[in-house]
Amino acid sequence: MTERCAICGCQLHRTKDTYARPTVEGRSHATSHHYVAERFFGRSTNRRGTKTEGMFPACPWGHEGESVVFCYECQEELVHNPVLLPEDVARFAELVKQRGLSEEMKSESREPIAGRVALFHEVIARGLASLSNKSGESNG
Ligand SMILES: [Zn+2]
Repeated sequence: MTERCAICGCQLHRTKDTYARPTVEGRSHATSHHYVAERFFGRSTNRRGTKTEGMFPACPWGHEGESVVFCYECQEELVHNPVLLPEDVARFAELVKQRGLSEEMKSESREPIAGRVALFHEVIARGLASLSNKSGESNG
């Protein structure tokens, strides 16, 4: 069975010592991505044995622990580096303020960042919905 990237569809491989190399091979190496980061639940696979304060007691979307396979490019370059231009940051900050998720001073509460994470997901989901339509026509 051929393993393919869930985003771009490229054929993946798991050849040892090729990950992240600036070659076609390095760019098409398989890599696993958690739909919802493990660190959001107070666990980190990067620092085993350490437990950080999680922001969600349980996954709000019901996908805790689930993962998908991407190519190196889609994982490390696309998903990890969303482009946020100055106007995007300003608009998002306004939404954060409207939803009561801004902070004058950090407190012990992780609820504001949890709310911002959920809001950012909502922005992505709504953007996808507005760009997707079955006929392929623009909604204007
Ligand atoms: Zn890909």
